[in-house]
Amino acid sequence: MLHKRKPNVYDFPNYIFCLNNEVETLNYITICAAFEAEWKDIEALTEETAWNTLILEAKSRISPFSISRIIFGRDRNSRVSVRLNIVKGLISQEVVDKLNEFFPSYRDTKATITAIF
Ligand SMILES: [Zn+2]
Repeated sequence: MLHKRKPNVYDFPNYIFCLNNEVETLNYITICAAFEAEWKDIEALTEETAWNTLILEAKSRISPFSISRIIFGRDRNSRVSVRLNIVKGLISQEVVDKLNEFFPSYRDTKATITAIF
């Protein structure tokens, strides 16, 4: 999983004992409380990584917080569905389209997506 693919970014192990004794499926780890702190770290790291890929012109148009909002959405349901995409190495077209709206060039969108996924 993520831990295997990008161990420097996703450093939590594949299996953490779930207090609910739930099977740690891909779907489940996006909502399991045992992973919540790690997801917060991943979200913060994603925001920072995305921000760092931007050229100055792009940084003048958008804040790190806005990038996070674009990538993860505004509510928990949205974050959970993005988490599942991240686990699968996917990004939704909706997120790509939104990034393109805010960034000055497709280059920025491509650099950001390459860096975070
Ligand atoms: Zn759990």
